[in-house]
Amino acid sequence: MITHLSSSQINIYLLCGKKYQFQYIDKLPRTFKSSSLAFGSVLHSALSWYHEEKLKANGNGQTIPIDKLWKIFDADWYSQTVEADIRYKDNEQEIKLVTLGKEMLEMYVQHPQGKVKGAEIPFTVPLYDPSTRKSLGIGLEGFFDLIEEEDTIVEFKTSAQTMNAGDVDNHLQLTAYSYAYEQLYGRIPKTLKIINFVKTKKPKLNVFETQRTPENHKIFLKLAKDVLEAICHESFLPRPGFMCKDCEYKALCPAWNR
Ligand code: SF4
Repeated sequence: MITHLSSSQINIYLLCGKKYQFQYIDKLPRTFKSSSLAFGSVLHSALSWYHEEKLKANGNGQTIPIDKLWKIFDADWYSQTVEADIRYKDNEQEIKLVTLGKEMLEMYVQHPQGKVKGAEIPFTVPLYDPSTRKSLGIGLEGFFDLIEEEDTIVEFKTSAQTMNAGDVDNHLQLTAYSYAYEQLYGRIPKTLKIINFVKTKKPKLNVFETQRTPENHKIFLKLAKDVLEAICHESFLPRPGFMCKDCEYKALCPAWNR
């Protein structure tokens, strides 16, 4: 019985129905965690802490020392390594990854930032059929990484290569979050921002901005409805592709174990 969907669940379903089943229906434990997933999660936690501190310091002129932020990063990284077996890519080393993360945090702190309105804000909003306006009976759940003044949603993404403007304009999560924001605050966000941290030898930080329209929201709702129907019909087909190399369920997957 599904009570909610998140944009990442919809995304995983669209990329591979079998992986969605293993992860969200069967709830199978992961045998390992990819270094990319662990790294993204640690960077998010450190940034969340930083923005919470900024929010507390608003107006009193206090700055947040970078070494304190690095300590948070170290502590989160340590807990990831205790909780899961981290699988590194070829030529990847833990020490280098940790150094890279700290360099990224320093770049971000020095980068111009908007005024923080809230960080790591959870939400649940209703989903409905855009043609009949009838409720789908489930909610859309998620977390805004950061909300800045002037109706700006900011999401942090780490990637091996620089994202491009096309990726950002078609980014499913941004459309879902724009829809959620409208449901919560009664207006479409003025700006959807992606801060893209690129894991090159010398890390890069790129900022992309985009927007969504009511039409984009309708297309998203139609997609959510179709995915929900397919899940309810237990349509969980494997879809071998680029995700398989990092897939925690490959040993169980019928596409690889005929
Ligand atoms: S190994 Fe590939 S096809 Fe199989 S579940 Fe994972 S992502 Fe899907």
